[in-house]
Amino acid sequence: MSSAAPLENGDVLWTRVLAALRQRGVSAHLQGLLAQLRPIESPAGKLVLSAPNAFIRDWIEDNYGATLAELLHDCADEPCDLELRADAAQGLPSVRPSPPPAPPAAGLNAAYTFANFVLGKSNELVFSAAQGVCKSPGQGNNPLFVYGDSGLGKTHILHAIGNELRRLRPDTRVRLLNGEQFMNEYIAVTHAGNRTLEKREDFRNKYRKDCDVLLLDDIQLWRGSAIETRHEFFLTFNELYEGRKQIVITSDRPPSDLPDIEERLKTRFHHGLLADIQPPAFETRVSILQKKAEDRRIQLPPDVAAFIAERVRKNVRELEGALNRLIAVHDLTRVPVNLEMAQQALRNILPPPQAVNLDTIVEEASRFYGLTADKLVRGGRQKRIAHARAVAMYLCRTMTPSSFPEIGARFEKDHATVMYACRKIEGLVESDPAIRRECAEIRSRLTS
Ligand code: ADP
Ligand code: MG
Repeated sequence: MSSAAPLENGDVLWTRVLAALRQRGVSAHLQGLLAQLRPIESPAGKLVLSAPNAFIRDWIEDNYGATLAELLHDCADEPCDLELRADAAQGLPSVRPSPPPAPPAAGLNAAYTFANFVLGKSNELVFSAAQGVCKSPGQGNNPLFVYGDSGLGKTHILHAIGNELRRLRPDTRVRLLNGEQFMNEYIAVTHAGNRTLEKREDFRNKYRKDCDVLLLDDIQLWRGSAIETRHEFFLTFNELYEGRKQIVITSDRPPSDLPDIEERLKTRFHHGLLADIQPPAFETRVSILQKKAEDRRIQLPPDVAAFIAERVRKNVRELEGALNRLIAVHDLTRVPVNLEMAQQALRNILPPPQAVNLDTIVEEASRFYGLTADKLVRGGRQKRIAHARAVAMYLCRTMTPSSFPEIGARFEKDHATVMYACRKIEGLVESDPAIRRECAEIRSRLTS
């Protein structure tokens, strides 16, 4: 007699656990991680899973061990232990950054890469132009001029270009600095007394001869009297350009709005590629938050991500700041990251909410689905109406600080019904692009 149940049972059991987790509305990220676990044995009273490596095993065990054990117990209908093993044959997980192949060039921040830049409509032009630059530096889009408001990822993209170039061609001589540094360095050179000539020569070599790619951040930092600096830059620019060396420039405004840049330089910028970067849309803001949380190995519930993304609209740096604050509070207090905790932790740093409340949401959702408010709230179980109502409830939960019972009162339902509807839509928002768009559209109508 064998004590081990056939592995088939393990498969079935694990599939049921995964389904139960999905019902709980766990994030797509966590689902992805769990999908990497494989049942390998299921002796009586036990399920053994294999993780691709020790890192993932430990992370899942630490963060979800208890939840998984509990679900396993439920799904098996009897006491059942869980064991996680690391599969030594597989490599490190992709979430762990691989060490850069060459030492980073001075001025480059290795943390800013293409891989951790989240794409959306608002930045795809800049992103693809930046990638094009890395494929054939100096050949096509030269110079690449990137402009957009503060906190939208210009510096990130600039470093990503530098890092990618050094990854593809480790001996590329990349120089990255901002407009102010260029100016200060040049002013220091011109005030070097009797060593001025020598220093000037060093400066020229550094930015002209010994440079394959010049990445100049924040050119708008040139102010007022820096005529000499601008002239020096003009000469540098020409020499690099004529030598087919790549130049990338960022600015918080387009060349036409830069009063301190000469027309002849602007004309040259226009001969390259001007690419603007815009504030990300709601969905992109959510993805950025999820990505940053993932990198920090924090599980960010979808309603918390939606809550932050709703309130911080114009600046990715502030989006990140809000997340950092949540993580700091979580680390200090060990309070799990959830909506209530986020509302509390961020109450002083988030801008005040727009005038969105349960009534305006009901109104807007009704309009969107072509129903009267009364029909949406009281219209019974007909599928179309029930869906509209569930979406409205979900929006109430994610766009206002209202509790389930409060939302229940507005919809004349009990709090469990609201909770169920919210979970359901939350799951759909992750899995169904059409529903995601519906929610995004109603949101944007409510807040614009
Ligand atoms: P800017 O130079 O335009 O002021 P930064 O490049 O400094 O903005 O970006 C501010 C912060 O926001 C950085 O931490 C950057 O990593 C992050 N960030 C901006 N856009 C994105 C994006 N699309 N994906 C991931 N992170 C982003
Ligand atoms: Mg910047």
